[in-house]
Amino acid sequence: AVKQRGRDGWQFFSDQLQAQARERLAITHGLRGAIAGQELSARFQPIVVASSGQVVGAELLLRWHPKQGEISPAIFIPVAEASGFIAQIGAWVLREGFRAQAAWQRRWGAQAPYVSINLSTRQLGVPTLVEDIAAMLRDTGAEPARILLEITETALMTDVEAHLRVLRRIADLGLRLAVDDFGTGYSSLAQLTRLPVEVLKIDKAFVDGIEAGREACTVMRAIIGLGRGLGLKLVAEGVEQREQQQQLVALDCDFIQGYYFHRPLAEAGFVELIDRQVGAERGALSLRPGER
Ligand code: C2E
Ligand code: MG
Ligand code: MG
Ligand code: MG
Repeated sequence: AVKQRGRDGWQFFSDQLQAQARERLAITHGLRGAIAGQELSARFQPIVVASSGQVVGAELLLRWHPKQGEISPAIFIPVAEASGFIAQIGAWVLREGFRAQAAWQRRWGAQAPYVSINLSTRQLGVPTLVEDIAAMLRDTGAEPARILLEITETALMTDVEAHLRVLRRIADLGLRLAVDDFGTGYSSLAQLTRLPVEVLKIDKAFVDGIEAGREACTVMRAIIGLGRGLGLKLVAEGVEQREQQQQLVALDCDFIQGYYFHRPLAEAGFVELIDRQVGAERGALSLRPGER
């Protein structure tokens, strides 16, 4: 009977693997036409000051809507990375982010928000990446200091020296760097300090539970202390509840990104949000005592 169950178990496992392989293949085929077919779009999720909710920037989050319905980037990005399509998709994402920031820069000048763009580790291996970025800056007129590139710790696990060189050249162009999903990878902190990184994005996994648990708070306090010690700004991701926001303010976290404040928005919705904010700030300014 044990043997029998073992075989069923294996059969089940093997069926699942086959289904997964089929799915990956279907996604790879689909991605081939995604750019030309205009099936990609960008959402912008506001990043806000933890204590006040003031919007300072937005993360560009990619959406793919093929005819069969939307597929999550958590699924198709890893497939694109494995198949090599990430180079083209990543270039599309960069251009889209630069274009958006340039438009915001024209609209709001010094009050324009920054755009935070995910950069796959695989993109760091594209030989023309730095030249491509420089050309996109020229073509779009985006403000380099208001572009934050999010890299994950995996960038510091293999080809470390080559990746560091590329990242330093990107920083030399005036762009900012963030470490995304901090705490979920296995990079050594020593490598991290060799990078011109300015921001740590703390993964949702570390936010979950801080509204209730002592342990979760202890871990969060340690991460924030570490980031502070390294002179970095801290963004907590995946904040969904008021109690989490309050806890993060108490722990002195700088910024928050999460459904509690805003879900990812279409660009027009984000522009409306900033328009209202800039208008309100001007209003508050003109109401200062002694001002007419
Ligand atoms: P990420 O870069 O860590 O992005 C944050 C993810 O958390 C986004 O998921 C966002 O929608 C989600 N999120 C934000 N606030 C909350 C919250 O309060 N609750 C919950 N449950 N989720 C929240 P999304 O858009 O599905 O993206 C998933 C991942 O796919 C991203 O994680 C990133 O690793 C990857 N990705 C998305 N767009 C791109 C891209 O343009 N390029 C690359 N290379 N990767 C991307
Ligand atoms: Mg990210
Ligand atoms: Mg993240
Ligand atoms: Mg994440």
